[in-house]
Amino acid sequence: MTYETHFRPLPATDRNPTEHLRHRTPAVFRGMAAHWPAVSTWTLPHIASLDPSLPVRLVRGNRENTPTAFARSDLGTYLHHLAEPPRADADLLYLKEFDLLGQFPALRDDLKDLPFLPRGSVTSSSVWIGPARARTGLHQDLLDNCAVQITGTKRFLLARPGTVERAGALSPKYDAWARLSRTGIEELAADRPPRTRDEDFLFVELEPGDVLYVPARWWHEVVNLEASILLSGFFGSRRHVARLWTQVHLRDTLHRTRLLGWGDCTCHPARQ
Ligand SMILES: [Zn+2]
Repeated sequence: MTYETHFRPLPATDRNPTEHLRHRTPAVFRGMAAHWPAVSTWTLPHIASLDPSLPVRLVRGNRENTPTAFARSDLGTYLHHLAEPPRADADLLYLKEFDLLGQFPALRDDLKDLPFLPRGSVTSSSVWIGPARARTGLHQDLLDNCAVQITGTKRFLLARPGTVERAGALSPKYDAWARLSRTGIEELAADRPPRTRDEDFLFVELEPGDVLYVPARWWHEVVNLEASILLSGFFGSRRHVARLWTQVHLRDTLHRTRLLGWGDCTCHPARQ
């Protein structure tokens, strides 16, 4: 089974981005960030050179549907290792949700505005840096997300909100800002009759400079086709983010006091 037979390509949009935001439909804006200095200057050696000894925490394998495990490294060693082709049997290590702009604020100068983000929206951004074949398992985020491909290429497989829920595949695994699926998206698509599948399952491959809008609650599974850097930003109105933050904070307090999802979460190692 391959995704091409079950997923419809998400075409480059010819609509105004604000329409996608209003109707909460995924959209790819080809080359919208191609002029950003980040796209031409954020190479792996350049990022590594900013502070090679900076400690980093790496995610081992696909933590959305295998036991969560981490590895420690430093920025220089990790990014140097990414430049080499990964061995087929190697454990894939992924630098996820990395606060690159917090660590190196001068890099903000390499970004430009995304014109479609609503005025007054709250954004939080982080980067995903990983080797070819590294993947993020099927999940949905609680906030709208905007992903900017900086270097390398990446494939997103998307499924409409409700797809995992209707299949009874919600995972009990805890994640603060996302909900996870027990089943991979390709298996879910294969189980559906072709006529209903067409509307619900989409794929898109991002090249450097492409921007993808993933509305909150749209399920997605993501794989690197090459070593890549992705800048990802969650956004929402101040009121919506504040309300959600209160709920997330409450659940997270329960989690950290071991009353909710302890031992099966994406934020702590599985054996503890
Ligand atoms: Zn945890």
